[in-house]
Amino acid sequence: VDLMDIEQAGYQAIDRICDYYISLRDMPVTSQVEPGYLRKLLPASAPTVGEDFQVIADDYQKYIIPGLTHWQHPSFFAYFPAACTFESILGELYASSTTNPGFNWSVSPACTELEAVVMDWTAQILGLDKSFYNTTEVGGGVLQATACDAALVATVAARLRYIREHPQVPMEKLILYTTTQTHSLGKKAGLVLGLKVRALQVTAEDEFALRGETLEVALKEDVDAGLHPFILIATVGTTSSGAVDRLDEITDIVKNYPFLWLHVDAAWAGVALVCPEYREACQLPAINSYTDSFCTNFHKWGLIHFDGSCFWVRHRTYLTDALDVTPEYLRSKHGDAGTAIDYRNWNLNLSRRFRSLKFWFVLRSRGTEGFQKHITDCIKLNDQFAQGIRESDQFSFVAKPFLALTVFRLAPKSLSHLTTPELNALNRIFHARLAARNDIAVTQTELNGVFCIRMVTGAERTVAKDIDRALVVIGEEGKVALTEWKR
Ligand code: PLP
Repeated sequence: VDLMDIEQAGYQAIDRICDYYISLRDMPVTSQVEPGYLRKLLPASAPTVGEDFQVIADDYQKYIIPGLTHWQHPSFFAYFPAACTFESILGELYASSTTNPGFNWSVSPACTELEAVVMDWTAQILGLDKSFYNTTEVGGGVLQATACDAALVATVAARLRYIREHPQVPMEKLILYTTTQTHSLGKKAGLVLGLKVRALQVTAEDEFALRGETLEVALKEDVDAGLHPFILIATVGTTSSGAVDRLDEITDIVKNYPFLWLHVDAAWAGVALVCPEYREACQLPAINSYTDSFCTNFHKWGLIHFDGSCFWVRHRTYLTDALDVTPEYLRSKHGDAGTAIDYRNWNLNLSRRFRSLKFWFVLRSRGTEGFQKHITDCIKLNDQFAQGIRESDQFSFVAKPFLALTVFRLAPKSLSHLTTPELNALNRIFHARLAARNDIAVTQTELNGVFCIRMVTGAERTVAKDIDRALVVIGEEGKVALTEWKR
């Protein structure tokens, strides 16, 4: 392809990306296509002869955009956010322009060195203890693709540490702890590694947070039964309700089990640590004093687009000893001498994306203050939404609003005699009505048998009037759902 053509197509791509963001507010939030829509529109095989790039670029607009859900839309309140910024997009563009699968320091030194630096920068802005910094050469941070990968490698490291200390223990006696509110990543880590998993019970009275006492009882039971609990995956900001496990109590118990690894998954809420005022509520003192590993996704609420999951360990050797497989062709002078990080030994894959570049761009362009503003703006918007719910006699909270998440359900005061199954049926109708709309996106969940709706703020373009509108839409759909349900 001619370089001039690339230049033209590149300018056009940037123009079109800018136009996309300019017109985003006027677009539907969710895609309206039916399954299989794209296969019907595209040829059955790739072309034999290359096509004109302009046609391809136009087909992206024509066929792909209509099948997208617009996660950056101001009225996208579903799941957890997937933040994206221009600096991040451009960082990715530069990274992809040279494509460095920086598995060893030696294959492209800047990739490794920048990652080691930005992991320390992010650790600093979140207030993490210095023992997690790469500069210690004991602990350290690495960019994983996802929080699921982070939990998996934490489990591999924890298993190595446990087995080293207890070489006689057969694998089938090891047990991984989660809670009933832990993201599916806990169960998946057990599944992939062939390990027993126990989900510890949490209650609505405890706001769905794991208590120290529950952990203590489970540990006694399992140890008495000849099992070996070797890792607890705790959560700061659970998916369904934003619950924060009581790490203050948990760390007191875990101290009596020195080989029980404590991994904290703060995939969504962890980024809020950038604001000192939320550190206590997110259990930072306990994270800093005891946790073995910690993960937060900047690709959720942290202005960095997918993927960018930050993962820190207090003792990197458990991770690298567990994952270091070095055939001759991967050896290098600095790897052999241990004078540089070879990040392939910190994750499951060998080749790695140059993710740190977009972090560097965004961290510099926004500064700590920019991150703080983004978080506090989102929390203010959620406060506004929660206030609307509080003042309504139609809705009630199912969990206490936390940071940028509100979990609520339709529960009119006039119908306070309804049972949980009746209210669940009503709320399923309510949710189906919201899901059928294309101008707002929220998600449903279930909390100990109660069907409810989650509303999360996080898109950079959401402003107060979008929240006012969301309250109106939700109020109207609530009324219609009630009429439908009564019929
Ligand atoms: N942990 C929590 C608490 C989550 O809410 C999510 C996803 O929403 C995850 C982990 C999974 O994150 P990832 O997609 O990066 O694996």
